[in-house]
Amino acid sequence: MRVTFPHMGLTWVGVKHLLAEVGFDVVVPPPITRATLELGAKHSPEFICLPFKVMLGNYLQAVEAGAEAIFMLGGIGPCRLGYYAEVHREIMGDLGLPTRMIVLERDNFVSEISQAVKANGHGIKWHKLIPLVRFSLAKVTYLDNLEAKLLRERYREKLTGTCSNIFAQTVQAVDAAASWADLQQTKRLVSAELEQALLPEPSRPLRIGVVGEIYMLIESSVNFRLGERLGQLGASVTRNMYGSTWVREHLLPDLRARQEMRRIARRCRPYLAQRIGGHGFETIGYAVDYAEQGYDGLVQVLPLTCMPEIIAESILPTVSEDYGIPLLTVTLDEHAGEAGLLTRLEAFVDMLNERRASSRIGGELIAPSAGY
Ligand code: SF4
Repeated sequence: MRVTFPHMGLTWVGVKHLLAEVGFDVVVPPPITRATLELGAKHSPEFICLPFKVMLGNYLQAVEAGAEAIFMLGGIGPCRLGYYAEVHREIMGDLGLPTRMIVLERDNFVSEISQAVKANGHGIKWHKLIPLVRFSLAKVTYLDNLEAKLLRERYREKLTGTCSNIFAQTVQAVDAAASWADLQQTKRLVSAELEQALLPEPSRPLRIGVVGEIYMLIESSVNFRLGERLGQLGASVTRNMYGSTWVREHLLPDLRARQEMRRIARRCRPYLAQRIGGHGFETIGYAVDYAEQGYDGLVQVLPLTCMPEIIAESILPTVSEDYGIPLLTVTLDEHAGEAGLLTRLEAFVDMLNERRASSRIGGELIAPSAGY
């Protein structure tokens, strides 16, 4: 059976490895471009959130390349993610492309995969599956950790673009890695390359915490590489969400990930007492966490019409005021333009630099605590 799945950040590397090793013929959708977004938006309800449109574009491109079934994540709660698979299936049926959707949730994760593998004419050997899942997750975790490191360190690269080039090459190397030894070898090479690429660390870099809706954070092709841009503008960036973190929090019994979720829930509680679906709770919790750590600014990234993030958006100005930390809200849909976003990011970073300079010389703060 030829199967596909949507791009969600770097998770494709692990998902591709896992599905191929259990016997599927895997069709990875082409990288997300303007054409993907336009195709998805053309066949989607106008006011649905952006991730839905991009994923539909992914599916249509993959089906055109021969995919017969789609692996997708399900969900419960007020966020629309739980309905994605059903509505995607309906739309594709109406387009004359009946496609099997295999929807994975925490409760049915193992049984759905096992049924699909059997339907594909293979059996799952459980003693082989666990190491396979571990290795697939290790690939994604390593890439996520590297991306997090580059977001933090890019501001001190000797030559603009070096970190991004190293990262692009590493994604290819990790995708090709067939064993733990290959993965270790890649890690060694990358760490040596990075050491050469970076200038010494200054005593106190400008720090920006980026929070928001998970898909908009982890899929850099839809957020116009916002984290990378901030790094190139001179800021050390911390992002709160990665694909491998989500898997650990929601699909695996990972104690440390659960403890972290509880820690962030405690940070959020003074501002919001209950969960609101999506990652609205985490957006507020991490914003408070970054503010308490003395970050210089916060950026929230959300897709237009995303209810959990709209609620968070209405609360974040209070966090900004309480902690005296400037906030930039970036709302994206298929009409958003890269140039406009870049101008806003430049102005925000300039303001943070001015603010820091004026606080150093004891002057008035330029933007004391207001949202920006
Ligand atoms: S969190 Fe928001 S953007 Fe993401 S699926 Fe839910 S409603 Fe849509």
